[in-house]
Amino acid sequence: MARTFDPATREALLARVRFYRDLGLTEFYRRPVDPALLAQFEAQSIQSQAPVPDVPENQGAPSIPRTSAEWVGNLEPELSPISARSSHEESTIPPRKPITIPPEIGSVIPAAERAASLQLIREDIGDCTRCALHKGRNKIVFGDGSPTARLMFVGEGPGADEDAQGIPFVGKAGQLLNNMIAAMGLKRDEVYIANVVKCRPPGNRTPEPDEGNTCSPFLFRQIDVIRPQVIVGLGATAATYLLGQRQPLAGLRGRVHAFRGSQLIITYHPAYLLRDPRQKKEAWADLQIAMRELGLKPPGKG
Ligand code: URA
Repeated sequence: MARTFDPATREALLARVRFYRDLGLTEFYRRPVDPALLAQFEAQSIQSQAPVPDVPENQGAPSIPRTSAEWVGNLEPELSPISARSSHEESTIPPRKPITIPPEIGSVIPAAERAASLQLIREDIGDCTRCALHKGRNKIVFGDGSPTARLMFVGEGPGADEDAQGIPFVGKAGQLLNNMIAAMGLKRDEVYIANVVKCRPPGNRTPEPDEGNTCSPFLFRQIDVIRPQVIVGLGATAATYLLGQRQPLAGLRGRVHAFRGSQLIITYHPAYLLRDPRQKKEAWADLQIAMRELGLKPPGKG
């Protein structure tokens, strides 16, 4: 029989599960519960009404840099319901087997031919029915931005706004991503943005392994055409598919990974930052690594 929890207990449990998943602990098993122990636990919790424990702080994180950018400023969580794209770091259940990464295209495509090369990839995708995600989509969300970008962002998959418009990161998470890009001293049309999957997963769930594995080769082809100097992978799903294996996000952030001729930096997904703005400082530290690689200084810092 399904059990219901009071809101405070539920929130505490959710926070704890998110924290474990942030650490890369994604599989949980339930043992049969001894009814006598359960009754004892319930009696105790009704009596004590102990305060809900705080979510533990991010442990072992690199030192926090200055947080000058305006987008870091608002550390209040988004009050909107968490239903839409509820979590990236937390709900990711990445594939169990290593992912096969397609071989890199050897030659560099001349800048003048990159838009046409991207168009060819889009044509290959066509009116795609390769995985079940096509059933619920309105628009395929291919990618957006400059074919000659030095910086590329990779997200997880389209949400409702993106599915309606056919453009990545145009909803609330997209607004935050725009602010992050501006804080780096760049314009959105100077970078390129794409996702692991090009069709919206129902209810914004994490893409299933077969969906991610079917769609991600198109992302790799986009990367091989653009050959950005730096790629920022947003969240655990992007990290998993780009690196070809699942690893705790905490261990992947804060450093540069060599990746298909680009420098790959992993950071939190903007949707996660909307829900837990305290992590914006950490994300800003990651973006500063990207800026260092690109030789950029924040606007107004001469
Ligand atoms: N989240 C993503 O991962 N990608 C989008 O395009 C929008 C939200």
